[in-house]
Amino acid sequence: MCSNLDTDIPVALSKIKLDQLQFCKRCQGKPFVVIQRKDVFCRDCFYEYGSHKFRSTIGKTRKVKPGDRILVAFSGGAGSSAMLDMIEDGLNKSANHKKLMFSPTILYIRELNYANESDAIITQKTHKIVERLKKSCLSSMISSMEMIYQDKEKPTFVDLGDFDPLDKDCPIINDKAQSKFWSKINSLSTDTSKEDFLRISRQQLIQKVATAGNFKYIFVGNTCTKTAIQMLTDLAQGKGSQITSEHSFTDSRFNVEILKPMREFIKKEVLFWNILRGTEPVEWSTITTFKSNKASLMKLTESYINGLEHDFPATVYTIFKTGNKLKFPDPNGVICKLCKSVIDPEQRCSASNALQLSHQLSKNLDDVFINDGSDRILCYSCNNLVNEIKIDSTVSPQKLGIADYLLYD
Ligand SMILES: [Zn+2]
Ligand SMILES: [Zn+2]
Repeated sequence: MCSNLDTDIPVALSKIKLDQLQFCKRCQGKPFVVIQRKDVFCRDCFYEYGSHKFRSTIGKTRKVKPGDRILVAFSGGAGSSAMLDMIEDGLNKSANHKKLMFSPTILYIRELNYANESDAIITQKTHKIVERLKKSCLSSMISSMEMIYQDKEKPTFVDLGDFDPLDKDCPIINDKAQSKFWSKINSLSTDTSKEDFLRISRQQLIQKVATAGNFKYIFVGNTCTKTAIQMLTDLAQGKGSQITSEHSFTDSRFNVEILKPMREFIKKEVLFWNILRGTEPVEWSTITTFKSNKASLMKLTESYINGLEHDFPATVYTIFKTGNKLKFPDPNGVICKLCKSVIDPEQRCSASNALQLSHQLSKNLDDVFINDGSDRILCYSCNNLVNEIKIDSTVSPQKLGIADYLLYD
């Protein structure tokens, strides 16, 4: 039953006038969080609500079987921190019907310093994440973003115990691969493209590790709010036909299927779960962290959705659920070489084709990106991404091309 402890009432509640104060909708106990107007929970009922929602999101698709090896992608952020806590909590439950039966391993990908923060801040954030992993009862692996360009015969991840960020001989610290990664990011002219490139790289690196480790599924901590943001950003970038395959519970575009057990939680629920459980997320700064809301399509959409969630939380669910109702693309369609989405075969007169034609007309036919045509199987959005690459005159044109951006196959 509900706790009667007189512990802190979070700030969100303290702003509600006393005469408006409601009580837990399940047990009439002391309120802890108001998700929507009438969704008031006390601490205990919110805990039950959250852990039940997590289990039922995984259970209702009947995908995950007892003993399945799952790679849990942990970024340190709010969504994946809550997911990791819910997994650990679920594995420790005494009641068999509530106990999670799969076999998880954590993967943390060490990001680069995209926002040019001081060494002290980067060290502090890395330390916090490593300490969180050490506290976990699960085995953990660490990789780094530059591992996408690691030599094929070398390892792309290490066990947590073998990771030392200051050790230059650590297999996942590779200066050459890192400078190649930076040169790719810097060759893109807009922050929207840079964010897209990072997202694709991260997805493919996780796939690389999951395939090497023979995992059955990958769990990612994408929340309902994050999914709504990404859906609208994808729409704005011309990826409307790919939304269903990328943002449904199961993403089957790659070798190892990606599952999203946090996708029914809005951001507010995740934040309060972390408060309730004393979990401290570590937000790694992105390319646009210290820039204006107009820096990229993603950031602009994020500020719009965050405002919506604050004032009209039900609207975020509506966007999320509308995305779920869209039809899946024809599985027999052509696959985009970069993001692995299906390109609708019916789109013979699509914006993608128009874009390609206009590039052919406006550029010399010997252009490096329009070589033999077979390399150019890209969706509209990836076409745009590749077209943004600034050609570096010091690099031989033959060395630039789609193949250079195919990170993983
Ligand atoms: Zn209650
Ligand atoms: Zn694509």
